[in-house]
Amino acid sequence: MRSGLRALAEIARIDEEADVVVVGLGCAGAAAAIEAAGAGARTVVLERASGGGGTSGLSGGVLYLGGGTKLQRACGFEDSPEAMFAYLMASVGDAPDELKTRLYCEGSVAHYDWLLAQGVPFKETFYLGVSGEPPTDDGLVWSGSERCHPFRDLARPAPRGHVPQHPHQTGHVLMRFLIESAKRSGARIETDARVTALVLDADGAVVGVVASRFGVERTIRARAVILATGGFIHADDMLRRHVPLALRCKVRVGAEGDDGSGIRLGMAAGAATLHMDKASISLPVTQPWGLKRGILVNAQGQRFINEDAYYGRLGEAALFHQGGRVWLVVDDEVFEEPDYVKRVAAAGETPDELERELGLPGGSLGATLALYNRFAKEGRDPQFGKQADYLKPLERAPFGAIDCTTDKAIYAAFTLGGLATDADGRVLDPEGVPIPGLFAAGRATSGLAVGSYSSGLSLGDGTFFGRRAGRTAAAG
Ligand SMILES: Cc1cc2nc3c(=O)[nH]c(=O)nc-3n(C[C@H](O)[C@H](O)[C@H](O)COP(=O)(O)OP(=O)(O)OC[C@H]3O[C@@H](n4cnc5c(N)ncnc54)[C@H](O)[C@@H]3O)c2cc1C
Repeated sequence: MRSGLRALAEIARIDEEADVVVVGLGCAGAAAAIEAAGAGARTVVLERASGGGGTSGLSGGVLYLGGGTKLQRACGFEDSPEAMFAYLMASVGDAPDELKTRLYCEGSVAHYDWLLAQGVPFKETFYLGVSGEPPTDDGLVWSGSERCHPFRDLARPAPRGHVPQHPHQTGHVLMRFLIESAKRSGARIETDARVTALVLDADGAVVGVVASRFGVERTIRARAVILATGGFIHADDMLRRHVPLALRCKVRVGAEGDDGSGIRLGMAAGAATLHMDKASISLPVTQPWGLKRGILVNAQGQRFINEDAYYGRLGEAALFHQGGRVWLVVDDEVFEEPDYVKRVAAAGETPDELERELGLPGGSLGATLALYNRFAKEGRDPQFGKQADYLKPLERAPFGAIDCTTDKAIYAAFTLGGLATDADGRVLDPEGVPIPGLFAAGRATSGLAVGSYSSGLSLGDGTFFGRRAGRTAAAG
């Protein structure tokens, strides 16, 4: 049999019988376990690290939810599932999964209530800053490009970043409550247990797993196996094959378990994959937010995006469309030291001098600035539609360029592609047929974001579709 697979007929001993085995205890695995065990299934969670949490526990904790949650209403914002759906369908990349997106938007209010029911605390206050993870313990934040061109014209904007109460990174808070809830629901959690193979019966159905714990192999037989093992940002061979530009990113966003092991196990059992060439790339160059008044230029000295967009969108455009060769050009009035990108690549008394210093084509930067400044004076950006709040002519010398190349700047990457699943977490083969007994959720799958990201979508779809996988697997 292929590596990663074992034939039931050849297994000498079954060490344990369960209904559902969940592989991995990040947000997706915890949510799946809570629902599976809550539905009465004998549920075993196997986690290869010495404790649960995974990347979810290291994360910012932002969950992308909306449609009119209690938190949004308490903070005075109106939202609807339709507006959320329109934003997501327009913003998450080419060919989003319409059914999953619709279910997610329609179920988002109830999903927030479910998180509350697990004990996850959210403070009913809105963070007045501009986007991303709040440094405060506020509960609601803008976490995408909702107010930016082109989305503001396609869907009524609303802040949808729901953040568990704790200053700054809050993934550990989310995971503490989800893991406690999984334990309360009766799931048995085993740590230091790495799943190395899926067990198949003679018909090709998945009927269990082989796990290794301190060098000792155990076989657990089960009606269903849920792969919730995270993405593959730490698997260089997979990155080289599928998303090689991610190898240039200085920061790999993920716990060490994100080495694609679950995706490989699923593929060995015949699963299809989707969007393996896609990754979330954060380029946090416009923090502090006044820097959005600068312009991002590429190696041709031309703008390529509205600089007020969410920093994930900036990173994706800079890496995948400009090869990571971009600079943020500012004038003396706009310049302040960025929070995360420390290096000034060049400075000059005139745009021409700056352009020479950067090695850009002659006349390119001057022409770009002249066009930008002409319209900025009128409070317009006909090229890219940047919001008027961030439009200011860049005219006061000296001029500077903050280095946003992959060599010098933070590009923080995690993978978005993974196993193909239906809306109930069933893993699909290349014909779209479910592989009996095999489920998956979280970044081991291709989720809502199929090419472009807003903060909170990963914990959001991981928990939402993890729950659906858990329920379906338990119903068996
Ligand atoms: C600094 C940082 C900030 C982030 N901020 C946000 C944010 O605010 N909002 C957001 O939505 N996303 C955020 N992300 C991304 C997000 O955290 C992840 O995409 C998400 O947590 C993935 O969840 P998961 O359950 O699929 O995987 P994980 O949380 O990685 O869990 C997978 C688990 O499976 C285990 N595992 C792997 N292979 C095996 C195996 N073979 N056998 C047994 N166990 C195995 C791993 O050890 C791990 O514990 C952030 C990430 C980081 C690092």
